[in-house]
Amino acid sequence: MTTSQNHADNKENQWNLESLYPSSQSWEQDFACIDEALKQVTVFRGRLGGTPDQLKNALEQSTKLERLVEKLYSFAHHRSDEDTRKTEGQAIQARIGSKLSQVSAELAWFEPELLALPESKLQEFISSPDLKDYRRKLEVLKRAKAHQRTAAEEEILSLLSDPLSAAHKVFNLFENADLKFPSVRDSKGQEHPLDHSSYRKYLESRDRTLRQNTMTGYHGQFFAHRNTLAASLEGAVKQHVVTAKIRKYPSAIEASLFSDQIPLSVYNGLIEVAHEGLPLMDRTIRLRKKALGISDYRMSDNDVAVGEYEPKEIPYDEGFHLVAEAVRPLGSQYVQDLLKAKTDRWVDVYPRPGKCSGAYSGGCYDSHPFILMNYNGRVGEVFTLAHELGHSMHSLYSRKYQPYSLWQYPIFLAEIASTTNELLLYFYLMKNTTKREEKEYYLNYFFKSFRGTFFRQTQFAEFERDIHAFEEQGEPLTAQKLCDHYLKLITQYYPNVQVDDGLSAEWARIPHFYYDFYVYKYATSYAAAHFFARKIYDGDLAIRDKYLEFLKSGNCADPLITLQKAGLDLSTKDPLRTALKVFESALDEYERL
Ligand SMILES: [Zn+2]
Repeated sequence: MTTSQNHADNKENQWNLESLYPSSQSWEQDFACIDEALKQVTVFRGRLGGTPDQLKNALEQSTKLERLVEKLYSFAHHRSDEDTRKTEGQAIQARIGSKLSQVSAELAWFEPELLALPESKLQEFISSPDLKDYRRKLEVLKRAKAHQRTAAEEEILSLLSDPLSAAHKVFNLFENADLKFPSVRDSKGQEHPLDHSSYRKYLESRDRTLRQNTMTGYHGQFFAHRNTLAASLEGAVKQHVVTAKIRKYPSAIEASLFSDQIPLSVYNGLIEVAHEGLPLMDRTIRLRKKALGISDYRMSDNDVAVGEYEPKEIPYDEGFHLVAEAVRPLGSQYVQDLLKAKTDRWVDVYPRPGKCSGAYSGGCYDSHPFILMNYNGRVGEVFTLAHELGHSMHSLYSRKYQPYSLWQYPIFLAEIASTTNELLLYFYLMKNTTKREEKEYYLNYFFKSFRGTFFRQTQFAEFERDIHAFEEQGEPLTAQKLCDHYLKLITQYYPNVQVDDGLSAEWARIPHFYYDFYVYKYATSYAAAHFFARKIYDGDLAIRDKYLEFLKSGNCADPLITLQKAGLDLSTKDPLRTALKVFESALDEYERL
């Protein structure tokens, strides 16, 4: 660790939660207002189909309530993360959490009542100037009506939603409560305890025996339970397929892409472009093989660092300064706003006993962003800071320039701003170092993130697409079928790599497969960020200005339209191919070195 405990305890290095609520009393005062605010919405029950003015009142009251609850929740959640051992933070988080459940239960009628309005009525509301801040919400609702069933059928569906989620529950409990791993041996015969977090650490170990034993020991447990886990995953896939059928979508995948209005061709296009890029993946592996001096390269060799070089530790102030310099191509206003992260104390910087691990960007509509870090001075943490600041700036601008009803950008767009900042930092660091080993280090960092995000998430997306198609064609998803297909994809994505024992059951441990068609968004966002970062870094001011507008646009339109306005057309494969080109030129540079 680069810093003493004094540093961590210094207020300057902690976020300013008092800017949300200066005292616990003020939090309590707001908390006490929830019931009244809830009443103000409940009085509109059965009256949403009145005049536009009436609906506007109802929506405004509902917004007021949501903002209040979010602000209270945001404070409690951040307070509790400061020290998860302290009961005070836990207590207020639990209170607002259960209040939130109560509020959503009592308002469960709101959206169905709107949905049940005749189309002509919805259209009248959509055309009303009074409701302009809510137009998009109403348009999305109107669109969803096509897949709405009768009131009686909707009731049955809602009663069935709990039993239908049983497969996901089984998986969660198995993975988090029941599953135990054997300890694993290193090359000296020493035993190491294995769990979800040590699994990642051991895979980065220089001890190859430990890496191989970890890969096999970890996946071996999933392989041993593959029949149970196949039945559970099959249950989830059936749930997606059946729900799509009931709601009259052509397929499960199209049902899932519907809310973001993503054409199937975008999903399939991503997979096609990833396949075009597989020779580049192979080139990375060959370079790693050579650098690591391994002839029988295995999947368990994918995460170990190449070379012994580790850049010097970077104190936080210097790391922050690096990020601020790196984002200069985004213009002086962006930099000036980003510097507020320091002056207004958005960031809780250092690890402390009891503090929540990891990193995230949070806050709410009525606050500045908050960033939780566990800064340790390593270069990776500077990238994490750039990433979280990217999220924060996206939120800051969308909250500032959009009404509450439109600020929350969809998940499809969420990782673009964060990755763009990481890439700008990567370009900046590459440009400003002359040291060969430092360049190699950054390049390897970049390869790892490209492989782990673009290729790996697309490989998952392909698996997910295929298993839903199998189910729709009536092919049973047995453990054998799932393992065979998974293995087929690994050998396609990693043609010259030996697959460790048990890895054919890796599908059994991926929680995302229980959320239908989610992971492809990581890959498309990642590729979109390459498009923006490359052009912005190269001084394309037109794209830069459009990108800044994108950061302010929240959820104003469907994601592909938002991106089109920013100059990026994801309905073609070009932006994805631009990302591959950035990857390829990094490989060229590495080979030159
Ligand atoms: Zn992120």
